[in-house]
Amino acid sequence: MEKVAVFPGSFDPFTVGHESIALRALTIFDKIIIAVGYNASKKSFFTLEQRLSIIKKVFENEPRIEVISYEGLTVDLCKKIKVKNILRGLRTSADFEFERAVGQVNKAMLSDLETVFLLTTPEHTSVNSTVIRDILLHNGDPSQFLPKSINIKEYLPR
Ligand code: ADP
Repeated sequence: MEKVAVFPGSFDPFTVGHESIALRALTIFDKIIIAVGYNASKKSFFTLEQRLSIIKKVFENEPRIEVISYEGLTVDLCKKIKVKNILRGLRTSADFEFERAVGQVNKAMLSDLETVFLLTTPEHTSVNSTVIRDILLHNGDPSQFLPKSINIKEYLPR
């Protein structure tokens, strides 16, 4: 049976850290579905369409990675598309505390669901979408923290 994991997140924007987790997970899973969360009441820096298009471009030559969007609970997405594994990355103990609560609550809601965590590689520990948004807001260049195939300027207002 094909082993599939959903990698959910806001990916605002998708970073080298996210890229590394998704690619490394392909050694464990046959297919990764990157699921970009949409929350109508939460303002994002990049629109949903931009976030989807950035991630699709990053993995345009990787057929084992699919990119979708969703609204609502990740467990409901997993039920709907019949996937039993959630993939998440861990950078710090703060990530761990947060992920532990979410992972345990998700498991309580959907008992055959497993959350699989990959530790970030040391060079990506400080890479953070919030910091990248701040660099962009102040006209800095965050390209070293973004996947090589992405020219973020194409997605910024002129
Ligand atoms: P969310 O809003 O759901 O936390 P993010 O887009 O911030 O979405 O992150 C999605 C996932 O990627 C989370 O599991 C997060 O811990 C992980 N992640 C974020 N940045 C990195 C990084 N630099 N290295 C490894 N994992 C990361």
